[in-house]
Amino acid sequence: MLTVFTEQFGKIEVIGKGIRKITSKLRAGADVFCLSEIEFVQGKNHKILTDALAIDKFDGIRQEFEKSQIIYKIVELLDQFANQEAADEKLWRFLLQIFEAVESLEIRNSLLNSEGITASKASGSWQIENCKLKIIDCYFLWNMLSILGYSPELYKCPLCDSKLLPETFFFVPSEGGVVCWQCFSANDLKKSGLWFPIKVDAVKALRVWLSQDWATAGKVSFGQEAQQNLWDISKNYLSFLQENIS
Ligand SMILES: [Zn+2]
Repeated sequence: MLTVFTEQFGKIEVIGKGIRKITSKLRAGADVFCLSEIEFVQGKNHKILTDALAIDKFDGIRQEFEKSQIIYKIVELLDQFANQEAADEKLWRFLLQIFEAVESLEIRNSLLNSEGITASKASGSWQIENCKLKIIDCYFLWNMLSILGYSPELYKCPLCDSKLLPETFFFVPSEGGVVCWQCFSANDLKKSGLWFPIKVDAVKALRVWLSQDWATAGKVSFGQEAQQNLWDISKNYLSFLQENIS
């Protein structure tokens, strides 16, 4: 059984008979991370893949471990959170954008240019490269979650509905976003469940990320501390959603 995300039908499951055989004509077009033109028929219980023609195999992603890791996470989210058999044009277009953007990344060069020289001397180039990759990773993750309906509240406190001013606030997954400090203390949220202090710069970065495409959002620079803050929150928000929603 293969899970396929399609433009017309959303996420579907099809049976690819004999797909594992190396001689199978369908095999090339039904590979993981591949954009294909497919045909299927509705059988009695399942859909059966009858034809698959590879349009783009994204070799640039396949050949680089870091790139395939980003895509792998995105595909996993899609598998977990996208609705079965519901076409989603926005999601479809976003996926094409991710694949194209990740494939065309020039990992080594762009990374060293966009980060500080001091940092590179202090922590070694591997870590610097790793940082930029994490930003890309985070960017697509938050956008993907947003398109799937889990966009975090970043402008108004979900509890008191007042505008979030640049002061101390907290990211509370169960409240769906950033909560002001007054509500945080008034509701004693510290004692109940998951919460994180979120930095003003991290909120600003998220606002840009969720309103711009990668070409623009990728240029936003913010400090190491805010980056680390955002990575921690990203990881935890994702685990929270995975545990509580799927
Ligand atoms: Zn509030």
